[in-house]
Amino acid sequence: MNKLETIISLAKRRGFVFQSSEIYGGLNGCWDFGPLGVELLRNLKESWWREMTFRDDVEGVDASILMHPRTWEASGHVAQFSDPMIDNKTSQARHRADNLIEEYIDRMIKKKKTQLAIEIEEKLLVATEPADFYKIIIDHQIPDPVSGTCDWTEVRSFNLMFKTFIGPLEDTSSVVYLRPESAQGIFVNFKNIMESSRQKLPFGIAQIGKAFRNEINTKNFLFRTREFEQMEMQYFIKPGSELEWFEYWKDQRLNWYADLGMPIDKLKLKVHDKLAHYANHAVDIEYEFPFGWGEIEGIHSRTDFDLSRHTEYSGKKLEYVDTVNNERFIPYVIETSGGVTRSLMAFLCNAYTEELAPSEIGKMEPRTVLKFHSKLAPVKVAVFPLVNKDGMPELAENIYHDLRKSFMAQYDTGGAIGRRYRRQDEIGTPFCLTIDGQSLEDQTVTIRNRDTMLQDRIPVDNIKKYIVDLLG
Ligand code: ATP
Repeated sequence: MNKLETIISLAKRRGFVFQSSEIYGGLNGCWDFGPLGVELLRNLKESWWREMTFRDDVEGVDASILMHPRTWEASGHVAQFSDPMIDNKTSQARHRADNLIEEYIDRMIKKKKTQLAIEIEEKLLVATEPADFYKIIIDHQIPDPVSGTCDWTEVRSFNLMFKTFIGPLEDTSSVVYLRPESAQGIFVNFKNIMESSRQKLPFGIAQIGKAFRNEINTKNFLFRTREFEQMEMQYFIKPGSELEWFEYWKDQRLNWYADLGMPIDKLKLKVHDKLAHYANHAVDIEYEFPFGWGEIEGIHSRTDFDLSRHTEYSGKKLEYVDTVNNERFIPYVIETSGGVTRSLMAFLCNAYTEELAPSEIGKMEPRTVLKFHSKLAPVKVAVFPLVNKDGMPELAENIYHDLRKSFMAQYDTGGAIGRRYRRQDEIGTPFCLTIDGQSLEDQTVTIRNRDTMLQDRIPVDNIKKYIVDLLG
């Protein structure tokens, strides 16, 4: 098993992530979050929400997933939200043509055919139409990784939006889309929010919510799925100040990942080679996954494109009136657009550690531990009676029930203490409390730290404060 497969297997075994509708054979590109996964997800979203909205200049919103279909004409998604798709006639494998070429370039770099890789990369940079991608694949005889053959269909453009119908009639007048990004729910509410919250520029609107994309290939677990969650913020600013705010938000967002325990050498900023026609700066925050570097969040300077388009398509003026300087204008936007589920996968990969650690009798043994930042850890504390007799379970249960009012906690009486520690290590629980013989005499317990594996003895009355202080 490679590292990613090991992580997926642990995620399933311990109840973080399951394949969607598994008993029916699964549904490609969709995943379910189990008891621990849902806690991790909630902690991640809570951390983002606090970071982004517990400040004076950002408001929250929760817009509906189904939106007026004109939204997606205005945003450009109906005309342009598509990927180039190509099929191999022998294997029937379907690929995103740009990804097929990128993967070929990576293979050429690994084979030290640098000149060829650069040549293809240059062509890919200017490719926009399906025919451009097709020409690169044919000119360079890029083979299908499955069959090894080059018998390709034409490249076709495939719109990634899921379509459905509103009401009982399935005709073109009732078509709606499952939103492919949460951002448009922010733009269409720009005026409502600015007026109701009496915000002045610069200010932002943040949202966490589901998005859906009919991806051609889903792969790498939660990295590319058809249903996923995003955490997005649009920051509305005065035209001309975009570079300053772009730099500000880039730093803020990078620091958020680092503060939650991602080592800085596992993060990288990738400046976009190809800018969308409306954008004037764009950078991706990438994380080094077990399969290589991949985007976890994009920071984009989007000019006044979105609000101008919605003004044009809706006929409603989405402008800002600056009463101090006596001017009206359409604000520019800096966007921070991250994936909740994709980041969750990054945090899971980052936390996963296999190491040698001393057992209870001092022998070095392998242990698997999820070294989550304590803010993200799904379970904060576990409580164990050393043995299931002599009054220890009664005291342990009391402590557990009390802690459970404040923290997500687990109670475990099964097996040797060492094995109970290992079970908690494997799900990333920062603290384990053991109630032993001495606890009954002096009302103290041992508290063991997941990462250092060191134990302290503390009074029962201090447990909550001790944990709160360390959780930060
Ligand atoms: P990619 O190039 O990987 O398809 P993108 O540039 O289209 O991503 P954006 O439209 O900028 O992505 O979306 C913002 C964020 O939403 C991404 O950084 C990622 O974290 C998340 N995201 C996008 N598509 C998916 C997906 N199919 N599955 C999971 N997360 C996704």
